[in-house]
Amino acid sequence: MIDFGFTVSPSSRLDLDKMDRTSFNALAKIEPDVLKCMACGSCTASCTAAQFEPTSLRQAILLLQRAQVEQALNLLKGCMLCGKCTMVCPRGINTRHLIISIQKIYGK
Ligand code: SF4
Ligand code: SF4
Repeated sequence: MIDFGFTVSPSSRLDLDKMDRTSFNALAKIEPDVLKCMACGSCTASCTAAQFEPTSLRQAILLLQRAQVEQALNLLKGCMLCGKCTMVCPRGINTRHLIISIQKIYGK
């Protein structure tokens, strides 16, 4: 092999087909609105709890889609269920209710 003086990093691509989406599908069944999220980040930008500790519904939804449950729940630990994110969501998702359902489905 020719030495070019550098190496190519391994791909960080996620294989969604190999992920266990059972819990996310169960969540989508009782909260179909979760599928409408376009990861705009308005909820995170307006979050009251994010001023005090890392809180991000946007990122939590993405992590749940990838079956990275623990990291997702850590990002919702500080949620005070104030409902501010519900008021700003451009997709009209009842985010407050979604967070409650996430806690129910994932056992917290
Ligand atoms: S309901 Fe939770 S996630 Fe939404 S703005 Fe309030 S503290 Fe943040
Ligand atoms: S504001 Fe709504 S659409 Fe935007 S990231 Fe949050 S939940 Fe998703």
